[in-house]
Amino acid sequence: MSLAYLALGANLGDPVATLAAAFTALEQLPASTLLRRSSLYRTAPIGLAAQPDFINAAASLSTTLMPHDLLQALQAIEQAFGRRRDIHNGPRTLDLDLLLYDTQEITSPQLCVPHPRLHLRAFVLQPLAEIAPDLSIPGRGSLTAWLPAVANQRIARL
Ligand code: ADP
Ligand code: MG
Repeated sequence: MSLAYLALGANLGDPVATLAAAFTALEQLPASTLLRRSSLYRTAPIGLAAQPDFINAAASLSTTLMPHDLLQALQAIEQAFGRRRDIHNGPRTLDLDLLLYDTQEITSPQLCVPHPRLHLRAFVLQPLAEIAPDLSIPGRGSLTAWLPAVANQRIARL
């Protein structure tokens, strides 16, 4: 069994309902058990400012899926929610990212773990700290040590 951490995000349609449904989809992943889910957070878009606020959350999963298979399963859920890949950093119905997979460091064309920007984003760090306050990020140290650096990013727990 491996321990994986995921990030969920949405800012089109009804993002609160989307994330609730996405948690249900994560509960139904094969060879996996959803362990913890964070609160939902309303967050400011990063990169492209002229778009709706995001709703973000984090989850932990115990799984026997290998990392690339887990990524594929997450992408299938994104597709099921009507995700289209067009504008980088643009609006999306559902984004599911694999943040951490045990203490593995993976760099492949399809998959980078730990997620390369996770320590720079309040919308990832804060939900993740809620469900795993003692987590450390392989190669980057304690998760919570990164929180002060993102204190200027707007985020509010719903
Ligand atoms: P982003 O999440 O960065 O806004 P996308 O969701 O459109 O962008 O993902 C773009 C690509 O990122 C995906 O096709 C996927 O192969 C790749 N990717 C690399 N590492 C990861 C990861 N840790 N989690 C999710 N996708 C990843
Ligand atoms: Mg993504």
